[in-house]
Amino acid sequence: MSARWLDIAWTDLLGRCHLTRVRNDRADDGVPVSIATAAAGYAALSPTVGSLLLVPDRSTERPNPFSADAGLVVGSLVEDDGTPSAWCARSALVHVLETFNRAGYRIQAAAELEFFLLNPMTQKPLWSDVNQYSITKGGEIENVLGRIRRQLVEAEIPVEAMNPEFSGGQVELNIRHAPAQDAADYTVLSRYFAREIVRSSGLDATFLAKPWTDQAGSGLHVHQSLWVGAKNVMHENRNLSPLACHYMAGQLAHMRELALLGSSNPNAYHRRAGASFAPSAISWGIDNRTVAVRAIIGSEGATRIEQRDASADCNLYLAFAGQFASGLDGIRRLLPLEPPVVGNAHETKVKGRLPLTFVEAMEAFTGSSFAREHLGVTADLFEGVLRPELEEVIGNSSDWERRRYISAI
Ligand code: ADP
Repeated sequence: MSARWLDIAWTDLLGRCHLTRVRNDRADDGVPVSIATAAAGYAALSPTVGSLLLVPDRSTERPNPFSADAGLVVGSLVEDDGTPSAWCARSALVHVLETFNRAGYRIQAAAELEFFLLNPMTQKPLWSDVNQYSITKGGEIENVLGRIRRQLVEAEIPVEAMNPEFSGGQVELNIRHAPAQDAADYTVLSRYFAREIVRSSGLDATFLAKPWTDQAGSGLHVHQSLWVGAKNVMHENRNLSPLACHYMAGQLAHMRELALLGSSNPNAYHRRAGASFAPSAISWGIDNRTVAVRAIIGSEGATRIEQRDASADCNLYLAFAGQFASGLDGIRRLLPLEPPVVGNAHETKVKGRLPLTFVEAMEAFTGSSFAREHLGVTADLFEGVLRPELEEVIGNSSDWERRRYISAI
């Protein structure tokens, strides 16, 4: 017998997950969601702007380890006539994946998610020391990490690993690769429930891209491979196939104009500072973690690329959609690939640089006809909800400026 209630997980345009609980037997009729909530931008929209319908995607129904009397499902936003809403980032990804499937390919993807555990009283990282890749530290927080792993697995999310990351209190969650739509839904659910579990354990968590100047940033690396039937067509003769090279060339070609999709607030751009593992150059390399696209050449099953530019707090449906659409464009136009970067990409001369600031990224996105072509009206709506941040960037002076300049003259 199905549960009396249904928890529908859906995201607003900024990528925040919401959980709407409804009666299971009425859920398929759709649940009204105000556009003001779906937009969730930084400028308040009037609640009278109208509403959309939230509908469950029953193919994603899964056990709900977080609530005994409710099922769990991922949902999309539709207009009154049932057509996908432009406010729905998940539908934008579905659209890009349909184009991909029509071209004859299937994408396997996995997002690696980084976040910090915080002390809820101080809102500082759990530990102040850096370089924690350590099993002992993992043991200290196993009561929390173990709960996250177990409950996500109970929700049929294929957790592959979870371990402390570079900075004190930073954690990485790996989910096993899956068809791209599932991979996106898994990551949305994991990001939401990981934080809920952390909070109910007496700690707090943040996915902010670069919360502290002296600590590492949190990225969302997207592993991706292309398949035709049971064959990974990125792999050929123990190497990258020409198709994989065109796919990467497409991603690099559109990376600058679409950077906003993966780095959607001013803070995200601090990740690029210094010789970090976040990219600043539009570059690729073989098993190189300083580039924007890292190629991993292994067995046929394991050969893949990893896009390293997106931040942990992005709208990952849009980040995925932008990356995949760019890759497909590279395949269609047979774009040539520059030679790989060997060594530190931050110090290598390359043709293009990623936007270093939010203002630059907004400018590049505004001028992108590619974004409009592939994301449709969603691109304009996304840009619209971020626009107030430009004023904030210009209007706010910072602690750093005060420290540096207050007595300069
Ligand atoms: P890293 O070297 O970046 O730490 P991992 O070995 O931890 O990489 O693997 C990262 C992710 O890559 C995992 O989520 C894994 O499921 C995924 N992955 C492995 N093979 C493929 C593939 N063929 N396509 C897409 N993702 C893959």
